[in-house]
Amino acid sequence: TEYGDMSLKDIDQVAKSSFPLCMRHLFDKLKEDHHLKHGGRMQLGLFLKGVGLNLEDALAFWRAEFSKKVGLERFEKEYAYAIRHNYGKEGKRTDYSPYSCQKIISSTPGTGDHHGCPYRHFSEENLRAALSRMGVNSRAMEDVIDKVRNKHYQLACTLTFEALHGMPYDAGINHPNQYFSDSRKILES
Ligand code: SF4
Repeated sequence: TEYGDMSLKDIDQVAKSSFPLCMRHLFDKLKEDHHLKHGGRMQLGLFLKGVGLNLEDALAFWRAEFSKKVGLERFEKEYAYAIRHNYGKEGKRTDYSPYSCQKIISSTPGTGDHHGCPYRHFSEENLRAALSRMGVNSRAMEDVIDKVRNKHYQLACTLTFEALHGMPYDAGINHPNQYFSDSRKILES
């Protein structure tokens, strides 16, 4: 795969340590609601494909959550096709690429949607709460919020990465899968 390799048994742990906030939020909401709307399924699903979750594991992952809400039969009928489609196994067999930060930041999540970039789309209050759950300390928090106020969302994400990994990150974040793979490299070294 393009960015690495991940198996299903590791997903909860690596989500905590290495998912950027946009994906962490979708992941947590999926676990909480056992459902995500279309924009969220696309954003998280393609990201997971990018981190190396294979099709079989992806189906198992979504099935485990969605079946709690809509039942197994409806999952297979209404949702499994789209997951295979994202992996290029249905329809035109296009190999869909994970979304870049730019694409995510310029998306327009509506009510009940959880996709988008939290630095851009959360209220300041919700963003502060999410960052503190992630483990961002209060000094770093103010620097992150300062970037957000100046609409430098990717810089805010970069500062979060630096705070959580305890080292400078000069490359700057421009793709959620880059965040993930560089986080794994640092944490596994
Ligand atoms: Fe996700 Fe990019 Fe926003 Fe970071 S800057 S939360 S990686 S969209």
